[in-house]
Amino acid sequence: MPAPSAAEKVAILTTGGTFDKYYSVAGEMEIDEPTVGPILDLAATNLDTEVRSVVAIDSLDMTDEHRAQIAEALEETDARRVVITHGTDTMPETSEFLRERPEAIKGKTIVLTGAMQPSCMRLTDAPFNLGAAVAAAQLLEPGVYISMSGRIFEAGSVAKDRSRGVFVAK
Ligand code: GLU
Repeated sequence: MPAPSAAEKVAILTTGGTFDKYYSVAGEMEIDEPTVGPILDLAATNLDTEVRSVVAIDSLDMTDEHRAQIAEALEETDARRVVITHGTDTMPETSEFLRERPEAIKGKTIVLTGAMQPSCMRLTDAPFNLGAAVAAAQLLEPGVYISMSGRIFEAGSVAKDRSRGVFVAK
């Protein structure tokens, strides 16, 4: 597929997950402000981006009400290219929920991504995964996808292999 001739705006919806976790002074893992902005700053991109925090939760706590909020945010953005940062444990479930919401995803390329290690850590996969997802969102046909660890899967055909910490086709 040819690369887009003019870069379109990419909306980035954040929902929390390990991507935005950090150790509090009490030694607890907590979810902080979205870290997508600083990552984009470091990348010195001149891509038109719009970052919006929808929820900030561990994805094990993600309910269909939260997913409906994500769908609403998709309906509200005029961007056709959208990345969603999300905890990895229930990323496949959210991708399938969104795939069943035609009014929210119509004409949009939506790519969910996350991180196995918090973005505030030195050895984190967050910037790699965000960069791959932003690129994928600009190149893929409309639909709902998961991009993790350099791989891209369609919603409905991917699962997390928890023992290995990777996403695999199902
Ligand atoms: N329970 C976490 C979550 O899904 C797992 C770690 C992660 O985000 O990947 O939010």
